[in-house]
Amino acid sequence: MSNPRETHGFQAEVRQLMQLMIHSLYSHREIFLRELISNASDANDKLRFLALGTPGLLADEAELAIWIDFDAKAGTLTIRDNGVGMNREEAIAHLGTIAKSGTAEFFGRLTGDQQRDAQLIGQFGVGFYSAFIVAERVEVESRRAGDPPEAGIHWESSADGEFSIEARTRAQRGTSVILHLKADAREYADPWRLRALVRRYSDHIAFPVRLPKEGATLEYEAVNQAQALWARPRAQISDDDYKAFYRHISHDGVDPLVWAHNHVEGKREYTSLLYVPAQAPFDLWQREAARGLKLYVRRVFIMDNAEQFLPLYLRFMKGIVDSGDLPLNVSRELLQQDEQVEAMRGALTRRALELLAKLAADDQAKYAAFWKEFGRALKEGLSEDPGNRERILPLLRYASTHNEGDEESVSLADYLARMKPLQERIYYVTGENIGAARTSPHIEQLRGKGIEVLLLGDRIDEWVMGQLPEYAGKRFKDASRGQLELGALADVADQERVDAALKESKGLLKRCKDALGERVREVRPSTRLQDSPACLVRDEHDLSESMRRVLQAQGQAPPPAAATLELNVAHPLVRYLEGLPRGEAFDELAQVLYDQARLNESGQIERPAEFSRRLNGLLVRLAGAQ
Ligand code: ADP
Repeated sequence: MSNPRETHGFQAEVRQLMQLMIHSLYSHREIFLRELISNASDANDKLRFLALGTPGLLADEAELAIWIDFDAKAGTLTIRDNGVGMNREEAIAHLGTIAKSGTAEFFGRLTGDQQRDAQLIGQFGVGFYSAFIVAERVEVESRRAGDPPEAGIHWESSADGEFSIEARTRAQRGTSVILHLKADAREYADPWRLRALVRRYSDHIAFPVRLPKEGATLEYEAVNQAQALWARPRAQISDDDYKAFYRHISHDGVDPLVWAHNHVEGKREYTSLLYVPAQAPFDLWQREAARGLKLYVRRVFIMDNAEQFLPLYLRFMKGIVDSGDLPLNVSRELLQQDEQVEAMRGALTRRALELLAKLAADDQAKYAAFWKEFGRALKEGLSEDPGNRERILPLLRYASTHNEGDEESVSLADYLARMKPLQERIYYVTGENIGAARTSPHIEQLRGKGIEVLLLGDRIDEWVMGQLPEYAGKRFKDASRGQLELGALADVADQERVDAALKESKGLLKRCKDALGERVREVRPSTRLQDSPACLVRDEHDLSESMRRVLQAQGQAPPPAAATLELNVAHPLVRYLEGLPRGEAFDELAQVLYDQARLNESGQIERPAEFSRRLNGLLVRLAGAQ
């Protein structure tokens, strides 16, 4: 054969990954076995799938399985499957490079902190290269199903940055991974250790994992259950089984928070097993990142990342769905149009939301962990999936004026339970971050009256909240817009004060408006302020400052930004202003108040240097006057 031995360098990322694995993953070294068995299981799954269209592929050996052999004296351990196998090109591509999306991002997020990096590697999927955690040399012998024995290959590497590949005749299809164990890893060539590890990590694998029978040569026995986990009755599955299966399908090294395993019968028959991870994957916010469930049809693996079964905002959910009705040759295109899939998507979406509701009810600490990682994604559902709004709303969590700190832990139900008698609105305020929202002048009066205000500090919040009409019959109210709509909570005294201010300060309000011109729509006495001299108020449907900035960044010209300036007529600065006639000093101070209000609102003003100059001028004058 014209297939000489060739030496290739590993892709730089693979080299880096291998180094990291060898040096950072020493605490859970045994995971290599889980990873290799998982790959063997995937290879068998793939062959079973291909054989649906080409049954001949299974001809010489119909039963798919995984074998583990060891030689304690030689210090070798071999994991063999009779799955799809690899040809020369595939071995070079798959065992020399990383083809995953998000690879660059993954490497960008490595910190050098071994523990954190080890977790990241876990999330990224350590896969085949984990063999080098325990092996100083790894050989792979493989033959692609359907190829003749001469097309077999032999791959080998000692983790020195290179691997070699050559042709080697192989009688069976599938792959053997042969580990030459490091001196300090010889313990893995032990039948008891192997048995225990397979039971612990690979019991859920749907193919038999066979070890040599004790005291017999060339006889094997399966040590796992060898049945698809989700097909077993729930009562027979332990939490550890569920967690191990989660690791197998998600490559996540951290246990899931919660899961739901359901079998649906009737018009459609399917089984689903959904997990809520504890940690966001590094590519949660990448548009092109792979997402979706693993799809099986009557136990036969069909595809990874079937996106059609859950909406985008639930992209963090992991799991499998096994349909009893879909055709085995179902394709991605078919899934997109299928009515049955649509109905399953609806049901699985509800199932996922119910699972979250249950988590929120059963375990607040876990739910808080979930919210921290995935709350932002879930919020997208309010606009993406209006049909489920009533299910999503109770799952939201907010920071609030009733709590200290930035932690988002207040639900709408909490808010409702604490509302003042006769309170008609759910008040909220948004800012660049929660701290900015908390100190917003717009909520001074509400605070003064002890009315709770939800604090939102995410750019999309303003937009999301603007779309929400109400919760449990109470309308949402942005405290920075329009009137506060206090209804029965408004004091008669408040109104009288405003009326009086309107009358007494008419001159001041007009002078201010004249001084600020088009920049403000109107100047009026405030019902919101208590400590601050001024704030800007937008009408209900005006664009917010942050939305304006988003539009501007996209090259669009948003409509003019005039807002109403509210003055706290009781504030000493405003009283001082009132004493001034229209003139340079008046105009400068009016402008300073306006700029301050803008700063409070958005953290930005158009000409900061001018603002500083004015403020300094004012300070100098006041200091001199003393
Ligand atoms: P992952 O399994 O996450 O894709 P791995 O590093 O574990 O990453 O494996 C890389 C690729 O090598 C796999 O996607 C697969 O194509 C191939 N591979 C690994 N092990 C086997 C095997 N036992 N049989 C066939 N192909 C395999």
